[in-house]
Amino acid sequence: MKKVLILLLLAGFSSYGRDITPTAKRLSRHIRFLASDKMKGRGTGSPENEKAAAYIARHFKKYGLKPLGTDGYYQAFTAKVRRVVVPDSLRPARNVIGFLDNGAENTIVIGAHYDHLGTGNQGSSLAENPQGQIHNGADDNASGVAGLLELARYFSGNDVKESYNFLFMAFGAEELGLIGSRYFLLNPTLPLAKMNFMICMDMIGRYNPERGVGIGGYGTGDRWPEIFQNLNASVKYFTDRPGNGGSDNAAFYAKRIPVLFFHTGGHPDYHKPTDDADKIDYQAEEGILKLEIQVIENALKQPKLVFTPVQ
Ligand SMILES: [Zn+2]
Repeated sequence: MKKVLILLLLAGFSSYGRDITPTAKRLSRHIRFLASDKMKGRGTGSPENEKAAAYIARHFKKYGLKPLGTDGYYQAFTAKVRRVVVPDSLRPARNVIGFLDNGAENTIVIGAHYDHLGTGNQGSSLAENPQGQIHNGADDNASGVAGLLELARYFSGNDVKESYNFLFMAFGAEELGLIGSRYFLLNPTLPLAKMNFMICMDMIGRYNPERGVGIGGYGTGDRWPEIFQNLNASVKYFTDRPGNGGSDNAAFYAKRIPVLFFHTGGHPDYHKPTDDADKIDYQAEEGILKLEIQVIENALKQPKLVFTPVQ
């Protein structure tokens, strides 16, 4: 009787029995919100882009992350549209930054961009007549933001004081040329020398079982081969040595920080108004995040990585 009571108490006061691992259901909730027509494609400078930032900040707060922007969770900057000529080429933007302080010396950075192409007035749409069409960006990159939120939820809720701190970042204005991540790296709110590595998620929602999920950056740190041992994945994956392309990871790589870039690959809806939430493979994305957690937990047992450049 007593034993049962103690177990029940333990279950109530620790993460035991609490559902903290990523689930397809929660991923779906985040993506369906961020990629709904109401969010009008989260174009940089739009009220809906601000709404997406507020949604992320609200979740960071709920998970108990410390604000590590310059104004609470926010780090504001100005993004310039260069690919097309528009009257409003200068647009307000912001990164959203939360810190999980484990009292450690070094920090693991996890990031995903939350902006997309809005209603097709900022260049880079692949639609025939993009102007006025909502580019929902479910895969690009509501899927990565949902992953970021689920990892933040996991590491802040697991009642483990890890051997590294975590910096969770949602970048603005990636679609205009990695502007948010580059701005952060020029104006870091945490010393770059204290960063162990950066994990970037951009388009992790359209898993193709033939291809598998691609993991770039395998050649950018000396310990990745050890870290990738004994992984038990429900999804197929492959590694790729370079880490200097594709998304915000390239900005970190340029600062000589080891990176990993998770990506499920291109598809016919890429940068088109048809990149919609009902095309996301939520179950596979759950599997990808569980794989990422294993990678990160293996990395917690290793010393800080040494950057290794890959041509
Ligand atoms: Zn993207």
